[in-house]
Amino acid sequence: MKVQNLVVGCGLSGIVIANRIAKELNQEVLIIDSKNHIGGTCYDYKDDSGITVHQYGPHIFRTNSKEIWHYLSEYTEWYPFMHRVLGIIDGIEVPIPFNLNSLYKVFSPQLAQKLEIKLIEKFGFNKKIPILELRKTDDKDLNFLAEYIYEKVFLGYTIKQWNYTPEQLDPSVTGSVPVYISRDDRYFQEKYQGIPKAGYTKMFEQMLNYPNIRVRLNTSYKDIKDSIEFDRLFYTGAIEEFFEYKYGKLPYRSLNIKFEKYHQKKFQNAPVVNYPENYDFTRIAEYKYFLNEKSEDTILSLEYPEEFEQGKNDRIYPILNPENQEKYNKYLGEAQKLNNVYFLGRLGAYRYYDMNRTIANAFELFNEIK
Ligand SMILES: Cc1cc2nc3c(=O)[nH]c(=O)nc-3n(C[C@H](O)[C@H](O)[C@H](O)COP(=O)(O)OP(=O)(O)OC[C@H]3O[C@@H](n4cnc5c(N)ncnc54)[C@H](O)[C@@H]3O)c2cc1C
Repeated sequence: MKVQNLVVGCGLSGIVIANRIAKELNQEVLIIDSKNHIGGTCYDYKDDSGITVHQYGPHIFRTNSKEIWHYLSEYTEWYPFMHRVLGIIDGIEVPIPFNLNSLYKVFSPQLAQKLEIKLIEKFGFNKKIPILELRKTDDKDLNFLAEYIYEKVFLGYTIKQWNYTPEQLDPSVTGSVPVYISRDDRYFQEKYQGIPKAGYTKMFEQMLNYPNIRVRLNTSYKDIKDSIEFDRLFYTGAIEEFFEYKYGKLPYRSLNIKFEKYHQKKFQNAPVVNYPENYDFTRIAEYKYFLNEKSEDTILSLEYPEEFEQGKNDRIYPILNPENQEKYNKYLGEAQKLNNVYFLGRLGAYRYYDMNRTIANAFELFNEIK
């Protein structure tokens, strides 16, 4: 069989590149996925209770790019959702990222006010400070605060999530949830935020709904690679798998997500509640919040981080450290030698990319090839 464009992986990266090629270049695309559904990690479905469930954990879309927002808006309407996360610290519900409101939840008003004034004097209002930077301050009170937040918010969560302490990880990991010197309780501050009104999967169906796009599920690249020819291959699977692990495996953390359904209107006070202390799970998501769906039932997911093991679970979070990066760079070197084969997506880049970044990268690649 011969196709103009073969896209391996029908997650967000594969869908965007397939959509651009079919729509803008009017070329034919075959997009395959080894799973039995489209959407990759962003896949969602409606449960019979009428609640939309995100099978791989909660997904909230946000971007500062008008271009990306308008692009997706061709295929979906949006439910305007502002994400809020609580963390259980010493048994109290506290806004996460830890912010000025969090101070007043865990400390006496006098102490909280003193720390608030010192934080603003030292760093300024509305500033985001990575915890490892806050820990470097020499002020006695701020140092006390930094140690408190480090221990109660970051340490336990990071060890559960990564099996490493914050210092052993790339600073981008802990830096992604900084301490926020603000009264803003929202988890994200991007200009555009929302959730597709009919769900991500329905939006993806629309993005793939062109006569020149064919979708084949339950199909792995290795099943067809010897029987297919292509002008261009876009590969969004794991780069190390493509090269048959010639430089060794790249390690990932994975998630064992357990879903629970209760016949009750509500379980918790926020869409996501983090558990840095206690329990083996890191967080609980309650899905009816995301699209404000009314139901007599509620559906939760509890996330238990674990090692990635081939055949047992999915590659979720790349473990970024110099050794793994060096191994990845060897694969990248191999990739650069190939003609008309393009690696993209979170697994092609061995990086955690949010949806905004995933789309931006696919746009960039499309602009290069078109
Ligand atoms: C728990 C969790 C929560 C997240 N929450 C958010 C959020 O709130 N907001 C946000 O913006 N982003 C979020 N993200 C990030 C978001 O999921 C990613 O940006 C996005 O899924 C990346 O898409 P992708 O296509 O690169 O990868 P994937 O979604 O992983 O898609 C890759 C696809 O390729 C297929 N595949 C792989 N190898 C092969 C092969 N050899 N043959 C055939 N098919 C193959 C896989 O089955 C998969 O379907 C979250 C991620 C996780 C894990």
